[in-house]
Amino acid sequence: MENTGNKKIIVCVKCGKELNNGFYNSPNGIFCPECWENKPKEEREQLYNDAIENIAAIVELKKKNDREHLQSFVIRK
Ligand SMILES: [Zn+2]
Repeated sequence: MENTGNKKIIVCVKCGKELNNGFYNSPNGIFCPECWENKPKEEREQLYNDAIENIAAIVELKKKNDREHLQSFVIRK
């Protein structure tokens, strides 16, 4: 399938395959389902935990209205 429009092409950070359907957006990059599922379970859990901890930290800073530290978190689209 060729991608001709202005649509952004998303590729797997591990195998470089173009991702048209499903993908996993982890803190370490975007993975295709095959590469993601081939990762060790511990590594996947660690990535999930890191993401959840980041969110929890942001929520805490927001509660305290700590703008200075909030700015150190960059949220990518
Ligand atoms: Zn891949």
